[in-house]
Amino acid sequence: MTPAPAGTPSDPPLGLYLHVPYCTVRCSYCDFFLVPARGRGFEEYCGALAAEIGATSDTLRARSVDTLHLGGGTPSLLPAPLLGTLLDAARRVFRFAPEAEIGLEANPEDLEAARLAALCEQGIRRLTIGVQSLDDRSLKMLRRPHTARQALRSIELARKTPFRSLGADLILGLPGQDRAPTLAQIDTLLDLGVDHLSLYLLELHPRTRLGRETELGRLRPMGDDEAAGLYEEAADRLEARGFEHYEISNFARRGHRSRHNVKYWSDQEYLGFGPSAHSYAGGRRWMNRADLSAYLAGRGLDPGVIEDPQPRAGRGSEALCAGLRMLEGVDLEALRARYGRVIPEVGAPVLTELGDLGLVTIAGPRLILTRRGRLISNEVFLRLLERQDGEVSDSGAGDAVPGSRALS
Ligand code: SF4
Repeated sequence: MTPAPAGTPSDPPLGLYLHVPYCTVRCSYCDFFLVPARGRGFEEYCGALAAEIGATSDTLRARSVDTLHLGGGTPSLLPAPLLGTLLDAARRVFRFAPEAEIGLEANPEDLEAARLAALCEQGIRRLTIGVQSLDDRSLKMLRRPHTARQALRSIELARKTPFRSLGADLILGLPGQDRAPTLAQIDTLLDLGVDHLSLYLLELHPRTRLGRETELGRLRPMGDDEAAGLYEEAADRLEARGFEHYEISNFARRGHRSRHNVKYWSDQEYLGFGPSAHSYAGGRRWMNRADLSAYLAGRGLDPGVIEDPQPRAGRGSEALCAGLRMLEGVDLEALRARYGRVIPEVGAPVLTELGDLGLVTIAGPRLILTRRGRLISNEVFLRLLERQDGEVSDSGAGDAVPGSRALS
């Protein structure tokens, strides 16, 4: 291998995303790109992933990195030593900051005590457990491969392991979900000592089992108003217990925000590896083809890169919407300097109108969603992106704001 040139010291640190596309079963609400794990050769996949990382271009290798996130899919299916080889591959190419956030998404059924210790030894510092619900009937409806008891035990065990941050995901707005037990589930997770909680409102995709069942009338989804009310109560509960609502769907104890996800929301650069992974660096955005067979056939060295054709204005719109997801909102002047007139100026009529409706506030150059604005964020984003002539700009805003269901 040719020696890597030193990265430019002024380059901002990158985030790395390593995609693991395997799952034991497909959950009934999930429409992600993934493949069944049974009978799969994880060694072959990790070898291809390491090869793709090793083939990072000269312009990007040796850049500093301050976050690495293993997502999927279910990365906790990978044996800990294989995760170690992936981290080693990344460390050979990039300069890791001493306090880099190295995170892994995990399913409860994969987390026995010895495995948690092994993950920690491999350098995983942040663990996010896909709990989704602590009600067995809901878990069955969601086709999750674990019970509530397994989820609780995995958190208890993980809390005894020296991860720096421990997070959990919950879904709100499930058919048949009751208010009081759901809030009690949040209390339980906080009592167990999680540092970070992601609350996702259920999104029904027509291609998923849950989406089809709902369409056929076999399940009745929670109404938007009821889901919004539940979300607000959950947010109140979390804030009362010292959690910061730092992004539309995310709450953290002080010092435990997901630094990796913050990169996506604040227009910072990242590189993704594996089929379907996205990258953004040096003014370019691209994605790898979502085709595991082709990826393996090319041993990770021909990931089928697809350039993002989005023009600058569209990217600006996406950066605006993604940034508004954050508690601190966006610096309109900085975004305007980067993306031009697609970003509204402080004082623009649309901002006055949204401010009068109680959906946004302006603080200096910063535009910030109010709490009500956050609850109907997709509608605020669409209003912001309307052109002077009344058309909606081709921003891909829906893609830029996953997890934000329009509520009224
Ligand atoms: S574990 Fe996650 S990625 Fe896998 S099917 Fe379930 S929701 Fe989708």
